[in-house]
Amino acid sequence: MMNVPLTLRSMLERAEKFFPRKEIVSRTSSGIFRYTYAEYGRRTRRLSSALASLGVKRGERVATFAWNHHRHLEAYFAIPCMGAVLHTINIRLSPEHIIYIVNHAEDRVMLVDEDLVPILEKIQDQLPTIKAYVMMTDKPELPPTTLHPVYSYEQLIEQGDPAYTYPEDLDENAPLGMCYTSATTGNPKGVVYSHRGIFLHSMAVGLADTIGLSENDTIMPVVPMFHANAWGFPFAAVWFGAKQVLPGPGPTPKLLLQLIQQEKVTLAAGVPTVWLGVLKAMEEEQYDVKSLRSVICGGSAAPRSLIQTYETKFGIPFLHAYGMTETSPVALVSRLKSYQQSLSEEEMLDIRAKQGLLVPGLEMRIIGKNGEVAWDGQEMGELQIRGPWIASEYYKDERTKEAFEDGWLKTGDVAVIDGEGFVKLVDRTKDLVKSGGEWISSVDLENALMAHPAVFEASVVGIPHPKWDERPVAFVVLKEEAKGKVDKQELLDFLRGQFVKWWIPDDLVFLEEIPKTSVGKFLKRALREQYKDHLASAQR
Ligand code: ADP
Repeated sequence: MMNVPLTLRSMLERAEKFFPRKEIVSRTSSGIFRYTYAEYGRRTRRLSSALASLGVKRGERVATFAWNHHRHLEAYFAIPCMGAVLHTINIRLSPEHIIYIVNHAEDRVMLVDEDLVPILEKIQDQLPTIKAYVMMTDKPELPPTTLHPVYSYEQLIEQGDPAYTYPEDLDENAPLGMCYTSATTGNPKGVVYSHRGIFLHSMAVGLADTIGLSENDTIMPVVPMFHANAWGFPFAAVWFGAKQVLPGPGPTPKLLLQLIQQEKVTLAAGVPTVWLGVLKAMEEEQYDVKSLRSVICGGSAAPRSLIQTYETKFGIPFLHAYGMTETSPVALVSRLKSYQQSLSEEEMLDIRAKQGLLVPGLEMRIIGKNGEVAWDGQEMGELQIRGPWIASEYYKDERTKEAFEDGWLKTGDVAVIDGEGFVKLVDRTKDLVKSGGEWISSVDLENALMAHPAVFEASVVGIPHPKWDERPVAFVVLKEEAKGKVDKQELLDFLRGQFVKWWIPDDLVFLEEIPKTSVGKFLKRALREQYKDHLASAQR
């Protein structure tokens, strides 16, 4: 067989050659922008050529600080195809962490959205490796800024070559991009993606047994392009020539629903809190969402009740998937096997609420106290994964030692596996509640609470306890109409019907909102802090 390097270049060329008329729709601050893959290809090449003229060399990092839109999508291919490295920065990180990662990655050029410029203006003195800022704005003239030196994206690419040719001698193992993932303590950790890894991950995303993304789809990644490459969908969507809908700055549930309706989105991907918000908006107002063939949900456990409501109340099929920044990210997808499709509705839902089956191309094991756990859905262990799109280290980071062992990524997730091979996550190691030497799954309690008709969101954390080590405490946001009508006892009684006594939270606190991480997951650290304050004020 030919030993052809698996690089991004051929993925872009396929879209340009075979799908020149297919559309990319992008919501920008000035409205909806629409163009074709033919035009996308020309602008992408112009961008590469412009970056080359700014002095960007092979292997050098070019950062993006941006929402999901067409210019960001141009950067997704322009930077790797020329041999440079696409470093997508999470726009919601603290200034200290942004400074850390830009310096750690030694970014050379930074592409930044106009509305995010103020964040960088304040810290540019501490970003000495950046030789040029490129502002992504719809305005014809560059808006005033203290960033220096700074260029207008549109003016810059105007001078670029629309027929810029990409090198054919790139090594498939060369870095394509990088993304920093949050750490429990300390600075974010850098994950480097190779061309080969993204090529194979994109192929896996197209398998009918996983996401089945194809040219027929209109895909809307709600998950940010700075979070694990929007789960890799932009790469695969360009390759397959799928229509893309990029929801732009600060997308609200209403905006997302309008886009789904207008553009006839077939696949939309996001974390559970996004889908909880969208659900609320659908309950308030009617939208035509018939085009959706699947809502893809990952990043945190999808509550069983959420899956059920989407499907039975709104007729929207729901697909639960699992991954990490380190796994490119798609690693498990919860799709029923053929012979499971004749089970009862409840049984099928139980399976589909699990994190799912391993994606072809990867290998996994779950390591418990005595080696690999039994496939009994009971014995817990740490999920470990290896494969061609799994990171093998953290970029220039001592913490590589703790997270990788004998060629396996130790995910830090505690899981069980059933007789069919479906993995169910019990918790993140750090979020498991350790009570009297036994483990309580915060995820199971959260799922149960969110199935109560009065509950909008719920999160459970372990709080230090003098006798039991830790005890669970629940935080609940009630639906508007239930506020003042449901009390703590009712919800705890609801749990009593479903769990053994010692699993029942010691306390339940009502909140207006659950604090979220930069990518919309429940921020448990903040809840633990908040509970200390709550107790202190209760004692006063
Ligand atoms: P961060 O640590 O910033 O959240 P990632 O987005 O890489 O970074 O998060 C990966 C983690 O998210 C996994 O290790 C797992 O704990 C959690 N996760 C991802 N998908 C799911 C899922 N479907 N169900 C439960 N947890 C999930």
